[in-house]
Amino acid sequence: MKEDFIPYGRHQIAEEDIQSVVNTLKSSYITQGNAVPKFEENIAKKVHAKYSICVNSATSALHLACLALEVQQGDIVWTSPISFVASSNCALYCGAQIDFVDINPLTGLVNIDILESKLEEASKNNKLPKVFIPVHLAGASCDMEKISALSKKYGFSIIEDASHAIGGNYKDKPVGSCSYSSITVFSFHPVKIITTGEGGAATTNDPKLAENLKMLRSHGITKEESKFLKQKLGSWYYEQQSLGFNYRMNDIQASLGLSQLKRLDCIVNERNKQLDFYKKIFSELPITFLDIPPFVYSSVHLAIIRLDDKLTHKYHEIFEGMINLGIGVQLHYYPIYKNPFYKKFNFRYEDFPGAEDYASRSMSIPLFPGLSNEQQLRVKVAFEKVLG
Ligand SMILES: *Cc1c(COP(=O)(O)O)cnc(C)c1O
Repeated sequence: MKEDFIPYGRHQIAEEDIQSVVNTLKSSYITQGNAVPKFEENIAKKVHAKYSICVNSATSALHLACLALEVQQGDIVWTSPISFVASSNCALYCGAQIDFVDINPLTGLVNIDILESKLEEASKNNKLPKVFIPVHLAGASCDMEKISALSKKYGFSIIEDASHAIGGNYKDKPVGSCSYSSITVFSFHPVKIITTGEGGAATTNDPKLAENLKMLRSHGITKEESKFLKQKLGSWYYEQQSLGFNYRMNDIQASLGLSQLKRLDCIVNERNKQLDFYKKIFSELPITFLDIPPFVYSSVHLAIIRLDDKLTHKYHEIFEGMINLGIGVQLHYYPIYKNPFYKKFNFRYEDFPGAEDYASRSMSIPLFPGLSNEQQLRVKVAFEKVLG
């Protein structure tokens, strides 16, 4: 890669992050010490949730969230086709069936009218989902109040895939407060808002779900005497009560997360400023940005542009042209149902005109902590060149 290549996203590691990790490395515990519980406590406080459970990735958190809500064979789960494949794979891990709800291509978020009519149709055919997983694309929350009202009417649970959205708000409540959902999931992969290297978290206000998530991330084992189903046979005793996994986060990761979380507001503020600057300098170009709904404060995980109609036939030319000029662009995301693995489910592309339109014209452009105005101007100049 060229030295002056500007990636679409990257992590920011500060001196205090390094110190925090070094302190853990020099301590008595590098896994299962104090850092993970402390990180969990701080996440819960930050997003106004009662419980937070850290795991080794958002993918694991989504899997455990489905299991905690008892998703199994014979169940149906719905999510957005414009997301990372993990939003949908988590249902398949549990043996459930997956289906997609089309998006509004102007926001990239679930189209509530389509969700409502799809639910109406499903209720007639006895095919209602057990769980719906709305995806807060690019850091902007879906309209959770409306989704929550529909969940009560049609009897499904909600897992928010907020992998992009820690630090954002919906109607003045932090994303992750689970005011309108059973569980919210965050990702701490290095391209996301804050990082633990790899890592994720699930938040919830339900003590039973929290307990289940905790057991499932560690083999389905409990060491708490009050939870034992059989008599304690000695101080060594623990019980495996369900089939869980080793999805634990370690203290090295959590100590990085603890340090990063302190800067969350600062990072999200900088991301919003960078997006505003792009909007200003791009005003003359035949390009618009994804709309952010009025009730939302986005964490701006991604700056996603939309090419005007007259440019969509040149999408690939523009995309490769930008890469050749040293600008990291990316499509977030190619519709999940178009992946070869999903072919066997026989989704019809024409059932998702919003997703198809979105994917024909959208691309993420560089945005990350530390990106300079000068670099942002370079992105604009590159567009001027490739657009001719
Ligand atoms: C990144 C991402 C995930 C998976 O996160 P990992 O921590 O890498 O497992 C899931 N959903 C969405 C929307 C993501 O962007």
